Amino acid sequence: MSKIEQRRLVQRLQAQGIKDQAILQAIYEIPRAFFVEEAFTRRCYENMAIPIGEGQTLSQPYIVARMTELLGLQAEHHVLEIGTGSGYQTALLAKLCHKVYSVERIKKLQWQAIHRLKKLELHNVQLRHADGWEGWKAKAPFDAIMVTAAAENMPIELLQQLRDGGRMVIPIGVGNQILQLITRIGDRYRVENIEDVKFVPLVAGELQ
Ligand code: SAH
Repeated sequence: MSKIEQRRLVQRLQAQGIKDQAILQAIYEIPRAFFVEEAFTRRCYENMAIPIGEGQTLSQPYIVARMTELLGLQAEHHVLEIGTGSGYQTALLAKLCHKVYSVERIKKLQWQAIHRLKKLELHNVQLRHADGWEGWKAKAPFDAIMVTAAAENMPIELLQQLRDGGRMVIPIGVGNQILQLITRIGDRYRVENIEDVKFVPLVAGELQ
């Protein structure tokens, strides 16, 4: 886990247009290699998605940073993440805001993530083994929601769990996917198309 690689990663993200200093600092501090299997520790600094087991992937650093930046996070925010996966994105959110709730449908990945987040002493995180299509109603409303798997269509439950003024980033589509930024304005939702992306699907139904 070399600090040189972590620093290079931050420099590359800056060159790619990521400006938020708090995000760049948090990315520098979180050892990315700690969230992937040993066989991928070198490759995890490249601009590519990394397999994390169970057919799932950790997104390339640029898209993780970009999605986080779009949420406009503040220190007092309560954030919901759908798709804990490796826990890397969860760790980043935990560094930036007050409380992170993260939902994952694959138990094995959730356990690994719990272990990693504990080791890094990130205690402002609560994880749940459940279907992300439902969100996490008991903890709503959220200041921000980040969905890290592609939904076939807009999950209505998630829209309802966003507080007024809150933001959600979500990849939408099957095959061709587009990253959308949703802002809640009273009972209305503003939708902005950000860029083409490639995520694993947000699976509906039975847990694993
Ligand atoms: N944020 C993750 C990315 C993981 S990939 C990271 O930083 O590593 C997307 C994750 O979404 C996978 O772990 C997958 O199991 C999970 N997922 C897919 N459908 C889901 C659903 N309906 N509810 C909760 N999690 C889901």
